[in-house]
This record gives sequence, structure tokens and C-alpha cells, in this order.
Amino acid sequence: MIIADTTLYQGMRAKMIEQLRKKEIFDENVLQAMKTMPRHYFVPFSLIAHSYQDQALPIACQQTISQPYTVAFQTTLLSVKPDMKILEIGTGSGYQAAILKTMNTTVYTIERHRQLYEDAKHLFATLKLNIATKHGDGHAGWTEFAPFDRIIVTCGATTIPEKLIAQLKIGGIMICPTGDKCQEMKKIVKTDENNLNITTHGYCAFVPMLSQTEYQSQ
Ligand code: SAH
Repeated sequence: MIIADTTLYQGMRAKMIEQLRKKEIFDENVLQAMKTMPRHYFVPFSLIAHSYQDQALPIACQQTISQPYTVAFQTTLLSVKPDMKILEIGTGSGYQAAILKTMNTTVYTIERHRQLYEDAKHLFATLKLNIATKHGDGHAGWTEFAPFDRIIVTCGATTIPEKLIAQLKIGGIMICPTGDKCQEMKKIVKTDENNLNITTHGYCAFVPMLSQTEYQSQ
């Protein structure tokens, strides 16, 4: 169910953008996309009043919709330009994918939980967001549509997934939180076929990137 984007929500969203600026998010394209796309469309109904607070919130399947700051930070690191082909690992609520789509890119997103995949697919259709969705293990990427200009991983990987690097264009950028309980945000630039330039951008806490779909044991 979509709750209309009233002036109340628009006002809360404007305040959220001001908070993000105070936290040193300065990329106007990212801020504009987050100002345009209502976050409350992606938050469970019972938590909708909290949609514009800068916090992660629980969604189905014991997962979370990322904190607005995290979405803004990862998207800034991704250096998105219009018409880029972007792969997201971890669809979750669909909010991050919707922000990327609002930046006029072509978005492909993979989710391992069938329910989240189905819900996001349905929500994208309702919102008329043309985003390609897939149910599966993001470690494998999406070979049919590779190579990608950008890859964004929104769950915590233990190590940088090699198959994703293989599906990144030369000059492409991948943002991937890497580590066990707490992760380090990594920006990986594929400088040529055999070389990566990896920089780290602080610590973060994501739900783990698991290797099977939900049919098998977690
Ligand atoms: N980008 C999401 C964040 C969701 S949390 C949003 O904007 O709401 C991370 C998501 O990654 C969860 O939904 C989790 O189920 C999913 N995930 C974890 N491991 C995965 C894997 N191997 N492949 C695809 N998705 C995975």
C-alpha cells in the first residue's frame, strides 16, 4: 500500500536532507534524488512515522532498509552519472535501487530472499520504476547484463566477491562493505583487466551477504 506523499512527508524529507548536509553529504545529485524519492514508500506501514529519521529500520525477513546516511554515502562514493548501467546486490526494501533509478541510470538488483524480491518487484511496478529484479545469490552477479559501470553491494561481504569484479567495466567502480561483524567500506576501481585500486572509507554495519538463497539453511 502506497501512502500519499503529502506536504507532511515532504517537509520531513526536506529536514532529512538538511541532516545529511550537516553530516557532510554534499553531492547535489544524490541529495536531489533523496529529496525526490519518498523513503516512506519503502518502510513497513507500522514504522512509517520514522521514515525520515536517519536510522536503519527493520523490513521483512529480518533484514533492514539502510540508514539514509548510508544510502547517501554509498551513492556518493559510487560517482553515478546518467545512463550508467548499475548492479545492486541486496535489493531489500528497494529504496537504494529507487534512488539510483531516480538518478537516470539503468538499474539491475539481486535479492536472496524470495519474499523481499517479490515485494520489491511489485513495488517498482506500482511506482512505475523500470528496475530489473532477480532472485538469487548476488555473489554470482548477473552475467547476461555484464559488464556494469558501477556495482553497489548493500550487505556485508566477507571478502570482495571475485565474480563481481569480473563483471565490472574497465574504469568501473564497485562499492562493497567488507568484513565480518563490522565492515570497512571499500571503493574498488578496476583500473585495467588485472589491476584494482582499493581505498577504504570508514567502518559500517550491514546485514551479512549470505551465499545461499533462503531455501537452504542460513
Ligand atoms: N539496499 C537495501 C538494503 C537491504 S539490507 C535497501 O535499500 O533497503 C541487505 C539485503 O541484502 C537484504 O535484503 C539481504 O537479504 C540481502 N542479501 C544478503 N546476502 C545476499 C546475497 N548473497 N545476494 C543477494 N542479496 C543478499
